[in-house]
Amino acid sequence: MASMAPITAPTGTSTQALERIGAHSHIRGLGLDDQLQPKPAAQGLVGQSAARRAAGVVVKLVNDGRIAGRAVILAGPPGTGKTAIAMGVSRELSEDLPFVSLSASEVFSLEMSKTEALTQAFRRAIGVRIKEEKEVVEGEVVEIIVDRSLTGATKTGKLTVKTTDMETVYDLGQKMIDSLQREKVSAGDVIAIDKASGRITKLGRSFTRAREYDAMGSDTRFVQCPEGELQRRKDVVHTVSLHEIDVINSRTQGFLALFAGDTGEIKPELRDQINVKVGEWREEGKADIVPGVLFIDEIHMLDVECFSFLNRALESDLAPLVIMASNRGLTRVRGTRYRSPHGVPIDLLDRALIIQTKPYSAEEIKEILNIRASEEDVDLEQEALSVLTRIGGETSLRYAQLLITTASLAARRRKAARVEVTDVRRVYSLFIDERRSTTYLEEHAREFMGDVDFEEGSTTA
Ligand code: ATP
Repeated sequence: MASMAPITAPTGTSTQALERIGAHSHIRGLGLDDQLQPKPAAQGLVGQSAARRAAGVVVKLVNDGRIAGRAVILAGPPGTGKTAIAMGVSRELSEDLPFVSLSASEVFSLEMSKTEALTQAFRRAIGVRIKEEKEVVEGEVVEIIVDRSLTGATKTGKLTVKTTDMETVYDLGQKMIDSLQREKVSAGDVIAIDKASGRITKLGRSFTRAREYDAMGSDTRFVQCPEGELQRRKDVVHTVSLHEIDVINSRTQGFLALFAGDTGEIKPELRDQINVKVGEWREEGKADIVPGVLFIDEIHMLDVECFSFLNRALESDLAPLVIMASNRGLTRVRGTRYRSPHGVPIDLLDRALIIQTKPYSAEEIKEILNIRASEEDVDLEQEALSVLTRIGGETSLRYAQLLITTASLAARRRKAARVEVTDVRRVYSLFIDERRSTTYLEEHAREFMGDVDFEEGSTTA
């Protein structure tokens, strides 16, 4: 296997994923108080209090390790903050936890099978915190731990070296093991190590004698021996995903594939090897596994085979928290003839915690738009904000957000620092929302090519 050099490439490699997360950059948590009650607007989240409270309970279940085998479904109309809440959950769990967002339709590609795409998504959502050995800098306190397997030593102990001169520390480790065995040093003993030879002298259980030694100007290092393993280590922690480790070690792919986002299929044997290796790192205390959040939007687009995969994958020890979202009601389960809520088979629904999101009030829309404007550094005139709020209510929150970005460009063009109603009006006529687009298409149907009939609930275009 190739060397496991720590890497820090981002977990979401596709630009699509980055875009989706960018729209939620203002979300820093669920905005709950100590009693898990949602504050009206906090950590970037506004309103939607019942859903946020429920999401807070999910976070608690995850932290208590009681979520295994379950999934969460966020169900509600478009633009009601399902992705935002999933993001909030992930932020509550931990800052450096992987949050992988994918749209169910991305699972269907010509480059890989559906189950491979889902497996990759799962493994992208599982973080491995790797503790890396760092170069020792003069004056630092380091632990010297000599690996039992390297020395064959049977007696081990953990040494904290207090010294300002580290040049010989690495060599000392090896010599120390021998001396430790000879001198029968035990946990808590203070010992002096001769810098040149690595010879160890026992000084009892306190540093008093060490100071006497020091006063004599001897060329020694003084250490205390707490219990533990012998290894040299100074930890720096990197979090990478299991998928990144897969790709880096895949001979056919190589790590550059991470940046291209095109990783192709990965051999199951390689994944097995990596699972074993990561398991070893875990036992040796070199790595921790941290399950992140896998968010799957448009869940009704998955088919029955994908759902079976999910059912099975959720059972695994290594499963991330899977949060699915749907804005559909009763819909046909893809690949079957029967209908089910959100197009999700009953057996998966049965193990899901379902959270509902509801449409926003005008006040809430205004608050969300205000937050987005400051997130994008856009100075909005009050009246412009009111117009955008009205547009948000009549069209969609996302469309109104897009107008903030484009209106700020319009304002900049006329060399104004603030976005005014004229800017909003201008971009509103330049870029049409979904409803105006539909009306236009209906009115001009004959002028367009490829008139396709869409059957409600059907996913074949
Ligand atoms: P869809 O069903 O179309 O996927 P959705 O329910 O996932 O929609 P989001 O994408 O979460 O909706 O919301 C649209 C935009 O509004 C995002 O930028 C999101 O961050 C923001 N947003 C939604 N709800 C809230 C909220 N309660 N507080 C703050 N921002 C929100």
